[in-house]
Amino acid sequence: MNNHITRKNFLFKAGSAVAVSAIGFPSIIIPKKKEKLGVALAGLGNYSTNWLAPGLLETRHCELRGIVTGTPSKIPVWQEQYGIPDRNVYNYESMHEMANNPDIDVVYIVLPNHLHARYSIIGADAGKHVWCEKPMALNVEECRAMMDAANKNRVQLTIGYRMQHETNTRKIIRFGQEKTYGDITGIRSGGGFNGSFRDDAWRRFPEFGGGALFDMGVYPLNASRYSTGLEPVSVRATQHTDRTEMFPDVDEHTDFELEFPGGITAICECSFGKNMDYLDIDCTDGWYRLRPFQSFRGVQGETSDGTQLPVDPTHHQARQMDNDSLAIKEKLPPVVPGEEGLADINVVEAIFKSARSGGEWVNI
Ligand code: NAD
Repeated sequence: MNNHITRKNFLFKAGSAVAVSAIGFPSIIIPKKKEKLGVALAGLGNYSTNWLAPGLLETRHCELRGIVTGTPSKIPVWQEQYGIPDRNVYNYESMHEMANNPDIDVVYIVLPNHLHARYSIIGADAGKHVWCEKPMALNVEECRAMMDAANKNRVQLTIGYRMQHETNTRKIIRFGQEKTYGDITGIRSGGGFNGSFRDDAWRRFPEFGGGALFDMGVYPLNASRYSTGLEPVSVRATQHTDRTEMFPDVDEHTDFELEFPGGITAICECSFGKNMDYLDIDCTDGWYRLRPFQSFRGVQGETSDGTQLPVDPTHHQARQMDNDSLAIKEKLPPVVPGEEGLADINVVEAIFKSARSGGEWVNI
């Protein structure tokens, strides 16, 4: 089916219908709102290929309609697999031409971290809503520029923190809000995997936003913030690398301790050298925990009174993209707006500062 022609015909007929309705025909002929938003994935690496594109086959409020890639050999494969027409295929030089393409409503930035800001801004300037992967960007200045571009173009900017959409994570956020187990007194959280990277892998290099903190540390950091609903006031951190040949200039491990108002502390760790995936929360009247708390599947937990938090098998990324589409369609604030990404990067900057000073407390 040729969506472009279909849409043009539809709009043409819709225009007639509205005109006719103005002279007294029943309102039933006024066209319905567009059913599904069209999403273009920018960056067709591992996460787009294995999680987002398959997730977009399950979404009810959006669908995959376009791609942005710098690798020509991927184009026919994606076109055939997902039925993407030629007119919805872009590279990084032509991406701004999306401005003239009504098939695309949202561009999802799934690129190495150093490119998040540049291509989010190009997407927003093309008048498209922007979903951007975590971490939002390399520094607060880039985050602000992305938010300014979205505001200026009146589009939504949403960060791909999928956990904030996940059922058990939503439950523990409510425990914190409703003080189900009393006041939170302490948090322990860690995210990491024992990874080996190819020589050219961008996660190994600082100029691409590599390192464990940017990649995995934002999970315990974001979890500490969403569990408490509070912003940390200070942090201290240390970073080290065991496999210096693989990670000569980025952190293989980062440990950080956040202090929140009211004396709550969060002791966090992240790593490229160690498998870990836990979020434990202690309260005045009990505790709860999620293990794993950030993996793509299987997030589950338990509480001190024996309540089980069983796995919800819903596809994380499909649910996230459906929620984010609904926010656009209903003109509501998204679950994870740009401000959330910026708040994390603000702390990340303080973590780097503390680590450089040998682990001194740094005010945030
Ligand atoms: P990846 O290396 O598998 O894919 C990156 C893609 O960007 C590749 O297709 C590569 O060709 C392309 N690219 C374009 N310009 C490039 C350049 N100058 N240098 C290197 N690559 C370039 O990475 P990924 O694992 O898909 O991660 C992409 C983004 O998604 C990252 O920001 C990552 O943090 C995020 N991510 C999020 C989750 C999540 O659960 N939310 C999971 C995985 C990755």
